[in-house]
Amino acid sequence: MKLNLSFIYKPELILNQEPKKKIAILATGGTIAGRSSDESDTTGYVPGSASIADILTSVPVLKDIAHIVTDQVSNIGSEDMTNDIWLKLAERTQFYLNDPLIDGVVITHGTDTLEETGFLLNLVLKTQKPVVLVGSMRPCTAISADGPMNIIEAVKVTTCEQARGAGVVVVMNDEINGLRDVTKTNTSNVDTFQSRIFGALGTVSGGVPYFFKKSVKPHTIDTEFSIEDIKSLPRVDIIYAHADQDSTLIDAAIESGTSGIVYAGFGNGSIHKNAFPGLLRATEKEIPVIRSSRTGSGLVVDSAEAWTQAGFINAGSLNPQKARILLQLALTKSKKVSEIKRIFETY
Ligand code: ASP
Repeated sequence: MKLNLSFIYKPELILNQEPKKKIAILATGGTIAGRSSDESDTTGYVPGSASIADILTSVPVLKDIAHIVTDQVSNIGSEDMTNDIWLKLAERTQFYLNDPLIDGVVITHGTDTLEETGFLLNLVLKTQKPVVLVGSMRPCTAISADGPMNIIEAVKVTTCEQARGAGVVVVMNDEINGLRDVTKTNTSNVDTFQSRIFGALGTVSGGVPYFFKKSVKPHTIDTEFSIEDIKSLPRVDIIYAHADQDSTLIDAAIESGTSGIVYAGFGNGSIHKNAFPGLLRATEKEIPVIRSSRTGSGLVVDSAEAWTQAGFINAGSLNPQKARILLQLALTKSKKVSEIKRIFETY
């Protein structure tokens, strides 16, 4: 029998084929790793109960998209995130990014603190390679679980050329959002991550990633922070503004040795008159105070003269939990109000 060799062996096709990218998937837990015995249950599950190996069994198609290596960094509900896990995750991520064989990193994460972890990584990783966070709102045992498609799209974004130099992004629900601006906006809807007044950086449509924008805020290689220099993060507390407030919790934070306070103020970072004396006592003890807003959108800019005079620093467009991360990082550099102010104006 004569074999038609030109049919079964087409060297030009093989040579023209793009080699698959090599992606490291670092797993930390979350709903994307959550399980429930009831497939219609989207709330009563246990987050962080499936391993990354278990999760990947639901997406066999990944092997056609990229070469994957996995690393289980933690397996927690992200509401239990700690400074120690953050530092471990950042170090591990940088380790993979430094490997010339790795083209990018995907991090599976719970959605509750994803925006904080991602903003931290956006500021401390030294890389141009894509770094993509991904989570899900429904556990992996649910009908219509969103995790599998989110992972596929996250890996596709990580292999895409436009993700290089874009900073750390989150890919969920067909959207690509930058970690500086994105926030979780809904307790249970799969369309929870929004960049509000800034908008998404891009989208995934028909399985193809499209980028439309870049942030002008410095990130990754353009920041003054590097995970290689950071061995611990200071304690920073968030005090939430409310009617009939006093300074009790602010004084308790000072007493317990906090290094900084973020005040999640009303509107444009407005401060209750009875919380003001406590915040003033903080700055007198060289504990920096950041004015942020509990509104969830918009900028905090200069307002009452007394607050500026007291040395309180505006959070700009950073929400309280993001302002907390930036203050933690700023404090690894300096305690001076002028320096911290510069850092808040820069990032
Ligand atoms: N509690 C979960 C977590 O953040 C929620 C989620 O992942 O959607 O780990």
